[in-house]
Amino acid sequence: MPELPEIEVLVRHLAPLLQGQTVRHIEVRRLKVIRPTPLAEFSRVLDGASFQELVRRGKYLVFTLRPAGRPQPFILLGHLGMTGRIYLQQAATELPRHTAVMLGLGAKNLVYEDTRYFGRFTLDARAVARLGPEPLGPAFSVDYLGQALRRSAQAIKVKLLDQSLLAGVGNIYASEALFAARIPPRIPSRRLTAVQVQRLQQSLRAVLTEAIAWGSTVPLDWAGTGPRDGLFYYGLADGAADYYTERLRVYDREGRPCVNCGTLIRRMVQGGRSTFYCPRCQRG
Ligand SMILES: [Zn+2]
Repeated sequence: MPELPEIEVLVRHLAPLLQGQTVRHIEVRRLKVIRPTPLAEFSRVLDGASFQELVRRGKYLVFTLRPAGRPQPFILLGHLGMTGRIYLQQAATELPRHTAVMLGLGAKNLVYEDTRYFGRFTLDARAVARLGPEPLGPAFSVDYLGQALRRSAQAIKVKLLDQSLLAGVGNIYASEALFAARIPPRIPSRRLTAVQVQRLQQSLRAVLTEAIAWGSTVPLDWAGTGPRDGLFYYGLADGAADYYTERLRVYDREGRPCVNCGTLIRRMVQGGRSTFYCPRCQRG
């Protein structure tokens, strides 16, 4: 499931390509992903609109478009859910089987593809208003994190997935940040010491920054159908070094030695999601 770094890399790729492009043709094959926007409204608003800007907010892609003949811009919100992908392909290319929405831009089509349809591509932008601060932005300070955790009895790993606490962290980077900060994933949030809060704030920023930097250097085939699809950096180009798992220090490494101490990494389930941790480095 894509998280903040994956979306950031995608946004940096797409933003310059979409700038100034006009929507000339609209095809919606899965009404679920545009909801609650009705199809008629989706088509009417987007028809003839041009892309002005694309930014990331949390795990969302926030497209700003200007309607045809009017100055007042509007927002189109994209979320990849579990398995969504958004990419440009040549207009002459046949649309993939799981195309949910296609916006024809002339020579190219912007394709939103999703095999499980848990994602969103909608004119309803209310979801972004409920998001907490950006982990890499100035509002995500040690003070903010300390205050936010002080009254919560939730396990810290589960709390980090709360998008109203901070936006964009998911299962992978929560495990990675807790490992880097040497914090036991089960500890109630309010029991973190001031030093642990500080280490966690720093490690969250560090793992996310590192992942963006890594993703920015990998040759990607955005519309590809490689074995890595549905996971992280979609469509790793053929023949590219598959060093993804080596990049992660604890996630998905159950039973393998800890990179710090050699103890075998363990997996447990918290809130229905897997948590990976080193029982020695992250002792309670
Ligand atoms: Zn260890």
